[in-house]
Amino acid sequence: MTNGMPDVDRSAASRAAVAARRARAAVKQAVRAGDRSARDVAQVAWRDASSPEAGLRVPELLMSLQGFGPVRTADVLDRLAISPVKRLGGLGPQQRQRLDDWLRQRDEARGAGRLVVLAGPTAVGKGTVSAYIREQHPDVLLSVSATTRPPRPGEIDGVHYFFVNDAEFDRMIADGELLEWAVVHNRSRYGTPRPPVQRALDDGRSVLLEIDLQGARQVRETMPEALLVFLLPPSWEELVRRLIGRGTESPEEQARRLETARVELAAQDEFDELVVNDEVRRAAQEVVDLLIVPSDGVRPPGRAGSGATTTGAGPH
Ligand code: 5GP
Repeated sequence: MTNGMPDVDRSAASRAAVAARRARAAVKQAVRAGDRSARDVAQVAWRDASSPEAGLRVPELLMSLQGFGPVRTADVLDRLAISPVKRLGGLGPQQRQRLDDWLRQRDEARGAGRLVVLAGPTAVGKGTVSAYIREQHPDVLLSVSATTRPPRPGEIDGVHYFFVNDAEFDRMIADGELLEWAVVHNRSRYGTPRPPVQRALDDGRSVLLEIDLQGARQVRETMPEALLVFLLPPSWEELVRRLIGRGTESPEEQARRLETARVELAAQDEFDELVVNDEVRRAAQEVVDLLIVPSDGVRPPGRAGSGATTTGAGPH
């Protein structure tokens, strides 16, 4: 006998603990497999305080949801003001209400928002198109990237970028806070903070990422449901004109830029949709149309089957 408990009782208690753990694991597995909704699990927990559901910790329930890891779970718990040590059965009435509302909204919003990546060659006008969308369509979340490059005059921290130092960028990578990141132009690091994107999608809002090609490729791997849009210049000659500009660069620099553009344009085949930036307003509208999920939930076919725009530039 130890701790004042007879040995027979101790072994019965540990058998019961093992059985309870198994029952909780089965609940999580059912949610993970999509056989049970998280909301149903919560309702059972709140009806029956002695159920396995009631013994489930809230983060365990959230982590059983598709696409939920530690970072996203911590973010949601923070928003709901629920401590990560809480079990479902131990939540107060207001916490129950907040969690239930969140789960319900999540069910309703699922599939309503879409993640669209806008990429394209240097100088094609991605920034202008996305700035137009930011102004005209505040319902779309235009992701604000983190970068290690210093701000340019007029750029505001938290609006144009989150300007961070190398140590902070390292920390964001280590903590899994970035959806994608890349070294751009061999200089600074740029990355997409994950929590705001996930939050918007959870709320049924569409999200636009204006990022470079390396980042677009990472998003295609990690979020295959994202729609990849490639912005094209009206013609190769026009891109050359925009790149070379007033011709103030040396011939070597001009040649380097053209070679970069040629390589970047070759990536267009990897994208779902091509949009020609002949006129900012029109191109932006085309991107906005792609951000809206059709009511039947079916994504318009990608370029393979859709006869997508073929009038864009190609290096000749
Ligand atoms: P700039 O320094 O001129 O603002 O941006 C340089 C390049 O970085 C642009 O091509 C832009 O698309 C890219 N970029 C901006 N934010 C991100 C990001 O979060 N991830 C990646 N991969 N590229 C980014």
